[in-house]
Amino acid sequence: MEFQRRGVMLVIASPSGAGKSSISRALFGADPSIRLSVSVTTRARRTDEVEGKHYYFIDVPTFERMRTDGELLESAQVHGNFYGTPRAHVEEQLAAGNDILFDIDYQGTLQLYEKCRSDMVTVFILPPSIKELRTRLERRAQDSFGSIEKRLKNARVEMAHYNEYDYVIVNEDLEVSTQRVRSILASARLSRERQVNLDSFVKGLQSQIDSI
Ligand code: 5GP
Repeated sequence: MEFQRRGVMLVIASPSGAGKSSISRALFGADPSIRLSVSVTTRARRTDEVEGKHYYFIDVPTFERMRTDGELLESAQVHGNFYGTPRAHVEEQLAAGNDILFDIDYQGTLQLYEKCRSDMVTVFILPPSIKELRTRLERRAQDSFGSIEKRLKNARVEMAHYNEYDYVIVNEDLEVSTQRVRSILASARLSRERQVNLDSFVKGLQSQIDSI
């Protein structure tokens, strides 16, 4: 039996190239009740990125206006660019009982903890080795060499925050890691606090006993 429930805010974080995007895509593709939180960013659009699907690409003045007006649930500067989570979409989807997947860094995760800890489940993805991380970044080949070096340095900082997350997965195999995240989400959906109508359901069961 499925009860009406509040959505789960599922945060998946990792250093660039550790597999977070692939895992997110696999989860999202297989489960129509998962929504993606599409961030705004001031970073330049990569050739394969689609406006409104991967990000909303905005300029710095627009970002600053949104942040000042409280339209962003969290925001951060990553690799020299600004990123932020639009608030309205998240609030609507949670109330509608849909789960939302966030691809945000540790700075954003900490800000969300302050505002909505009880709605959140957080997972940190680690690469099996730095050699593997570099290979994945190079294979992606969307970044200049300088940028790959920058992302590796940033990975060092990002990894220091693994202990701020509820769950940690070393991503050796994409399918296994995706299945692990699926299990985490399945458990979170069943938590007592998220199931809205449990109380009346149990009262209904009790009254059936009373009428025996
Ligand atoms: P990329 O430029 O490779 O798409 O993303 C770089 C980093 O920014 C990733 O670690 C990603 O998780 C993070 N990021 C993307 N969107 C947001 C956001 O809205 N807020 C925060 N805090 N980080 C974000």
